Amino acid sequence: MINDSNRLIYVMRPDGELNISHYFGALQELRELQYQYQSILFIADVQQLTTNPIAKIDYQERIENIVRDCILCGIDPSQTIICIESQIAELAEIHQLISAITPLGWLERVQNYKEVIDEIDHTELSTFGLLGLPLLYSAAVLGFNAMQVLEDNEYIAYIELSREIARRFNHLYGRESGFEEKAYQSINKLGEKKSDLYLKLLTKFQQDGDEEAEEQAKFLLEDAHNLAFGDKNRLIAFLENKSRVYLNEPKLLPLETKVVGTDGEYMNNTLDNIITLHETKESLNGKIRLMPSDPARVRLTDPGNPKLCPVWQLHKLYTSEQKQNQLKQSCTSATIGCSDCKQILEQNILNLQHTLHDKYGEICNDNISIKKIIADNCESASKIVCDTLESLKEAVCFTY
Ligand code: SF4
Repeated sequence: MINDSNRLIYVMRPDGELNISHYFGALQELRELQYQYQSILFIADVQQLTTNPIAKIDYQERIENIVRDCILCGIDPSQTIICIESQIAELAEIHQLISAITPLGWLERVQNYKEVIDEIDHTELSTFGLLGLPLLYSAAVLGFNAMQVLEDNEYIAYIELSREIARRFNHLYGRESGFEEKAYQSINKLGEKKSDLYLKLLTKFQQDGDEEAEEQAKFLLEDAHNLAFGDKNRLIAFLENKSRVYLNEPKLLPLETKVVGTDGEYMNNTLDNIITLHETKESLNGKIRLMPSDPARVRLTDPGNPKLCPVWQLHKLYTSEQKQNQLKQSCTSATIGCSDCKQILEQNILNLQHTLHDKYGEICNDNISIKKIIADNCESASKIVCDTLESLKEAVCFTY
């Protein structure tokens, strides 16, 4: 059974249609990881609104489509909690609490505020929300108390900020008053047998330095599924003779695959260069036929260099190794034309699309199921974040 101390989060911004860069860049990996970690697929609509508050977007329709496509990519909603930022009210409270201890300089350092505004190209977007965007991200990662964040390296600064905030919060509030008394109350919640065992292991570790006993005690706590997150962390701190840890310091689980778009740049919804998971033969042909190839290959008789060809980057994702070797040979010896090479790619893209639709597509056409999946998953997400919020409120003495 996967325990909640092994939690992973992937933050997805709903900036348009789900496309193959999401699939190869993250979802394919999450599909495997969801069986090792308690996984959260977090759709960050508030973060998206913050970067573009002016656009009129039907978020409900967009997000339902994204959820549908995530399932089509093999994300199993009974295994991964697929949830929406704006539907988890507790996150707003966590955002408030951590904003109280986050120095302004940390936010200014994470992103160059002016650069972001220039990039977005809306001068009227000099908003408080934009400056606080990294904090929204941190609220999500810390709110779920994730140990791992599946993310591009370019977001490493956001994760570092989350780690710093967690460290600062733990430092400021970790010395809770009446810690020992509260630790014994938490021990009682383990039930009679487990409490006795925990206390024996605690004594063995603290008096004799028995590290195996420490490991066993931690395992016992991890396995105590009825114990709230706050109690668990308090008892780990009690075992290690430390002050209490309220927030985990998350680590980056880097995503390495970058997918090239139909214009040769990296695929991005804002660049209108995407391939979706619902292409028809015609729509796909329209996109791939116009794709740039090796610019030095002007005539059919010119040998090509796959390393300089964006089409080849897609072949590496879609085409079998054996076929890639044949194509590489044909390209470099000018025995295949780019148009034939592109047709092979088109067919391979359609083949994968069909495979996904056959394997995972059944639920995707059922609107009621998608709505229910979203509602149920958001409820589960709220429960997790609520646990964290309770523990943070306790730390700052908001125990009314
Ligand atoms: Fe690119 Fe294929 Fe043309 Fe070679 S044959 S340049 S790999 S499109």
